[in-house]
Parts: sequence; structure tokens; C-alpha cells
Amino acid sequence: MGIISLKSLNISFPIFNPMKNTEILTCFQCGTCHASCPSGKYTSLNVRKIVRDSVRKDISDQPELWMCTTCYNCQERCPRGIKVTDFVLTLRSEAVKKGKILPAHRKVCNFLIKTGQSIPIDDKHRDIRKKLGLRIDEAARKKALKDVKKLLISTGFGELIKK
Ligand code: SF4
Ligand code: SF4
Repeated sequence: MGIISLKSLNISFPIFNPMKNTEILTCFQCGTCHASCPSGKYTSLNVRKIVRDSVRKDISDQPELWMCTTCYNCQERCPRGIKVTDFVLTLRSEAVKKGKILPAHRKVCNFLIKTGQSIPIDDKHRDIRKKLGLRIDEAARKKALKDVKKLLISTGFGELIKK
């Protein structure tokens, strides 16, 4: 399989389109997004603040950007119809372009490049699979890994993670 560029496939990825400022500016800071946020109950993530602060300054350094689980609760409930989760994803994409990504997430990305899996299977889980009679098709895995690597190279993912 040759390397296919995303451009030639003519696929558009909404998260790479910058959010329209006008949409974000309709936020009236009601806090429904934060109140609906399961992650915000256990972490310092306050998505209402993210929306507010992002229109004023560069927040790509904030670790909270990476605490969103992308559950879409906030986006479904925003009374203004703001695409809150998509906005967080856009901010993350911008942060990554600047080389800002949490070490744990960088590790997961590197696992993906190396093994084709974000959480590679280890010996312990290999044994469990064996006991349960679940097969591991090494040949299929190697072939799939080749394809995954080609895809990741064609999208520039590897270069992005190196920063
Ligand atoms: S729910 Fe919508 S309008 Fe309310 S604070 Fe969040 S983003 Fe702003
Ligand atoms: S998508 Fe992210 S910010 Fe929104 S409610 Fe879920 S975890 Fe919170």
C-alpha cells in the first residue's frame, strides 16, 4: 500500500478547523458545561474557565486541557449550542503544534507509533488471553502495525509528537 495523503482522500476533520470566534463569544458563562462535566468533579478541569480564558490569552500550557475525557456532556447541554468539546479538542491540537503535550499522553502516542496500540498488550495480559482461549494472531498484528505506521507517517503524527 502506497502512502496516501489525507488531502487526496478529500476528508475534512472538523477539529482541525478553527472554531469561529463568534460562536465562543456567545458564551454567557452560565456554568452549565462545568456542572455537567464528570472530569471536573475529580480534577481541576473547569471547562467554563477554559472557554472564558481562551478568548483572552494563550492557554496551551494549562494541564487542564488534557483532563477532558471528551464525553461531550458539556457540548450537549450548552444552552448557546457552543461546541465546547470540539473547542477543547481544537485547543489541544493547537497546543500539540506548539510542542505542548503532557508526558503521559506523549508516552501513549509513542506506544501507538511503536506498537500500533496506545496501550500495548504485556505478558501478563497475553497469559490471561491464552487461559481464556483468545488467540493472538501475530502475523495479522504485524501487518496491521505496518499499515498503522504508514498512516501515522502520512498524517505527520510522528513528527508532531517528536517536538
Ligand atoms: S454552557 Fe455554554 S454558555 Fe454556559 S458557560 Fe459553558 S460554554 Fe458558556
Ligand atoms: S467533554 Fe470534557 S469538558 Fe466536556 S463534560 Fe466531558 S470531560 Fe468535561
